[in-house]
Amino acid sequence: MIELIGIARSYGSHPAVSDVSFRLESGTFAVLLGPSGCGKSTLLRMIAGLETPDRGTIIISDREVAGAGHVPPESRKVGLVFQDLALFPNMTVAANIEFGLPVGESRSSRVDDMLRLLRLEALRDRLPHELSGGEQQRVAVARSLAPDPDVLLLDEPFANLDADLRGRVRGELIDILKQTGTTVIMVTHDREEAISAADELMIMLEGSVVQSGNPREVYEQPVNRAIGLLLGDGNVLDGRIKNEVVHCCIGDFPASGRPDGPCELFIRSEHLELSSDAPLSARVIGGAYYGHDALASLQLADGTALSIRQAHGDLPEVGSEIRIRANGPVCIFD
Ligand code: ADP
Repeated sequence: MIELIGIARSYGSHPAVSDVSFRLESGTFAVLLGPSGCGKSTLLRMIAGLETPDRGTIIISDREVAGAGHVPPESRKVGLVFQDLALFPNMTVAANIEFGLPVGESRSSRVDDMLRLLRLEALRDRLPHELSGGEQQRVAVARSLAPDPDVLLLDEPFANLDADLRGRVRGELIDILKQTGTTVIMVTHDREEAISAADELMIMLEGSVVQSGNPREVYEQPVNRAIGLLLGDGNVLDGRIKNEVVHCCIGDFPASGRPDGPCELFIRSEHLELSSDAPLSARVIGGAYYGHDALASLQLADGTALSIRQAHGDLPEVGSEIRIRANGPVCIFD
């Protein structure tokens, strides 16, 4: 278990992290997603003990490591893998993994366990420059896992991998980490990586964790437009609530418990559906084909611009009139 309570850290007058609190149960794979500069690395560095919070408490496995007292990084039982991996270039794979282990008889058997776990047995005597990017990645993770940390922190661990390698390496490594039951906090600014890996997705904006939860829930029910658009394409529309119904250019939707007045609505591009018997007419003004799907740009008679995602990659012809309806969750923002 790891818990942060009211953690804050400023650099000069600039608050890098302000009032972050969360609790993760043991074995959770958590992902911290946010744009560059929102404070993700600073937060990880405070958990690792490489930075000291100005305020707040950090508890790891029932021990307060930051707050009233300060436990140094090497005594926190926290593993850290950085983007640049920081492998020792003149040490073999096995020596890199052994490096962080306490002196004792069980060192070599622990190294063997890690080589097996990360599928590196055949590479044990190689030097880092004799490995592919994905293999180096696995060595860095093996080295961090070897001392059996209570929490493993991954800071943009796949950022330096080529796009074609990235998906496969990421999938393999995440599967291995989930099998070990290690508590992981992974930082990324890649939304697909975040959504696919996370048990618990935490969205960080301007120093604060603004929403957290199951990735599907956060994707489908973002609490504001910034989070909605950070996680994927969508349409932000003006609406007006009257008697617990919200009226907007694409239709009327329930708004139970919400007061009358103006609001914003958000609907994902894939939650608009093309259908010849749909009530709403739109003109196709552009589109982009992505292979697995396609995104069409539409305009309504009142000038409202919309984007609609077509699952099979079929793009309606530019200039044509089509009919659409909402077919999925509609979020209402105040
Ligand atoms: P992220 O990891 O989300 O990209 P960081 O945690 O690295 O963000 O940075 C958060 C903010 O704090 C940024 O505005 C950054 O410029 C600032 N910052 C980070 N480290 C330092 C530092 N050592 N000195 C001054 N400002 C810093």
